[in-house]
Amino acid sequence: MQPAVLYLDANATSRLRPEATAALARAMADERPMNPSSVHACGRAGRKELRSARDSVLRLLAAPDASLTFTSGATEACNTMVLGLLGGPARAARHPGHAITTAIEHPAVYEAFDELEANGWTVTRVVPGRDGVVSADELAAAVRPDTALVALMAANNETGAIQPLARTVRLLRANRFGGPIVSDATQCAGRVPFDLGALFRAGLTAAAVSGHKMGAPAGIGALIVAGAYDRDRCFELSPLIRGGRQESATRGGTENLLGAIAFGGVAAALEPRVADEAVRLAKLRDRLAGALIARVPEIVRLTPEGNDPDGRPAALPNTFFFRVPGCRGDDLVVGLDLEGVSASVGSACASGKQEPSHVVRAMGLGDDAAREVVRFSLDWDADESLVDRAVEITDRVIARMRSAPASTTNASVAA
Ligand code: PLP
Repeated sequence: MQPAVLYLDANATSRLRPEATAALARAMADERPMNPSSVHACGRAGRKELRSARDSVLRLLAAPDASLTFTSGATEACNTMVLGLLGGPARAARHPGHAITTAIEHPAVYEAFDELEANGWTVTRVVPGRDGVVSADELAAAVRPDTALVALMAANNETGAIQPLARTVRLLRANRFGGPIVSDATQCAGRVPFDLGALFRAGLTAAAVSGHKMGAPAGIGALIVAGAYDRDRCFELSPLIRGGRQESATRGGTENLLGAIAFGGVAAALEPRVADEAVRLAKLRDRLAGALIARVPEIVRLTPEGNDPDGRPAALPNTFFFRVPGCRGDDLVVGLDLEGVSASVGSACASGKQEPSHVVRAMGLGDDAAREVVRFSLDWDADESLVDRAVEITDRVIARMRSAPASTTNASVAA
């Protein structure tokens, strides 16, 4: 029996939803070898499954008429939409120009722009305010005659701050920007009602989403292109993964049918309840944040509160990103882990020691403050009891860290 874990790291990955498990069990019980590209009966059955999964994901995102290509995840989808809409890496390298993004993108987008820069492109990375939100006006003002593409994430994975995507798209198109506008929608899709159809109608070109942030397995995501929603603008998408003619030739390779079926099962289940689930999680997140700040008043909340200027929630409903002055975030995460709480500093920490993330640096935090951050992100199955236990344990771990000598290390916190 595994020990009970208080899981507060859903922005990294979610627990599998029962609908994913059920969809997988149903598909695995079907013994037909289903290659969706084959012409025979088994292949046709696979194609039908793939079409149904695709329709479910598009319905969840209110974009039933868009074109969806299943990918290995959001990383591939992000790379493909940035580099593929510029004609592919080789063509982009031969014809450098100017592109715009933000200083807070996930590495899936950030590093695609690094590649452009390495190939002679000029990249403008718009920095956010201290609230972690970038300005639509600043993004629009960065456009130059040679700007070829603009990328803005829908919500940030570390802070939870929802970005002004709709406003940016409207402004760019009103200013007659004619190039592709793309969005990494990984953290919004399935977490909040996300009207991708409306964004496409306003002029967004493509979006990337991922299954494992909403309760499907990792290893399945999607690149969604406006297609029928934007007949005025037609951009060619050069596939990044070359091979067969699968997925309407936008991605080579036999499809991950089981992953797509699980993704579709989750999307179909979520469609009628994503709004209610967002409200429920926001209440839990506010309970967690309120109780923790009441116990540790020095905590600095880094996730924006309340609504944005358009009256919509300013942050993902499940995310509370905060700073504990005087406590290193990585030490706190280790201390929490020892007490059964799974949390994160917000960004990947491959070396085992926390390097300040580019996101918190871009928000203007100095090096020391940027190392004092922790992210709690509630999963879909969180409840009040989980939240209350997490608050109690976090309070205790912070108190212990504070009473430890200044040279505290991970090991001594662990003791
Ligand atoms: N974009 C954002 C905002 C994310 O949070 C993540 C995952 O952490 C990704 C992209 C990459 O997703 P995947 O793991 O499906 O490649």
